[in-house]
Amino acid sequence: MKHGSVKLDTACIHAGQAPDKLFGGVSVPIFQSSTFAFEDAAQGAARFSGKDDGYKYTRIGNPTTSALECCIAELEEGFAGLATATGMAAISTVFMTFLGAGKHAVSTGSVYGPTRTLLEKEMSRFGVESTFVDTADLASIEKAIKSNTALIYVETPANPTLAITDIAAVSEIAKKAGVLLVVDNTFCSPVLQKPLKLGADIVLHSMTKFINGHSDVVAGMLVAKNAELRKQMHQVLCQTGGTIDPHQAWLVLRGVKTLALRVKAGQANAMRLAVELEKHPKIEWVKYPGLQSHPQYELAKKQMAGPGAMISFELKGGVKAGKTVMDSVGLSTLAVSLGGIESLIQHPASMTHASMGSEARSQAGISDGLVRLSVGCEDYEDIKADLWQALDKI
Ligand SMILES: *Cc1c(COP(=O)(O)O)cnc(C)c1O
Repeated sequence: MKHGSVKLDTACIHAGQAPDKLFGGVSVPIFQSSTFAFEDAAQGAARFSGKDDGYKYTRIGNPTTSALECCIAELEEGFAGLATATGMAAISTVFMTFLGAGKHAVSTGSVYGPTRTLLEKEMSRFGVESTFVDTADLASIEKAIKSNTALIYVETPANPTLAITDIAAVSEIAKKAGVLLVVDNTFCSPVLQKPLKLGADIVLHSMTKFINGHSDVVAGMLVAKNAELRKQMHQVLCQTGGTIDPHQAWLVLRGVKTLALRVKAGQANAMRLAVELEKHPKIEWVKYPGLQSHPQYELAKKQMAGPGAMISFELKGGVKAGKTVMDSVGLSTLAVSLGGIESLIQHPASMTHASMGSEARSQAGISDGLVRLSVGCEDYEDIKADLWQALDKI
């Protein structure tokens, strides 16, 4: 399938997935095999020398995994995909490939917690430096770039503040400085945002979230804009071993078929909910890229095909109110993670970001009463009734 030959909703269902050649199975078969037999010594040798691109060993490549890689690369309009065991395996592969002793990375300050820890606590042990800035502020990125900067790492919208970074503008900065631009597109999925088309070099996903969409798999994906970048990352992934399992890859292929449907349904619910939450007396403010009150409403409209299904809102009453709401919701599941077909709710100050301490949290824009809601595909009235009865308990 060539890029753009079909619409995105169609590509979600078909990209990378022709009926199987053996029996015509409409669903891509699960090649649950760790290794692949060679017909003879010459074929084995050709596979290892690269003259024959057939499969050898599942850590290096697998047909089910390849189908998923083709599918997501098509959706992101990139050159090629590289599937990984988790989102963090994708992120660590990027860092291991393009950073090293003496190299420097610039990253979004409120980036996904483990991404920041990986740079600050682990990559630093190998001589990698990192600077965290508010990437929504372009000047602060330019200021942070040094002669040894190798990559800019952007997460947009950021978690849980939903601050938006202008990918096209950052890509201009990256090009001028001769550094790579990597974008974590987990919150949007390719349905809402295509960073490679905006000038990024690599886009990555925690497929655990929207792409798989059923809260039953952990997986990651890297999509490179060209062959060389994919090859470099593949080489590192083969040695570090964060490969996806074929069965897991198949589950994601099944999930991605409904990606566009799910994202649009969750987004429609989120839009209605955000408008009504903004008027609720127990709510201080709502952050949602689809509201005109979002400080980067215009940028969101330009860069994203829709505002998405993630809402953050501030409760009047801080940590205590947050805990009350968490203990009172019934339909929305009290859980971290996001992008599932079910609504998931969490309170960063008492959960994911509790260990940061109040001061560091407020610097990162995470206030004590902030609630993050990943709006699912349940009936709108049910989601609202559940949340409203929980707000009544404050
Ligand atoms: C969850 C998440 C990750 C990490 O993915 P895992 O699949 O949990 O390893 C990275 N980035 C973002 C934005 C995430 O939400």
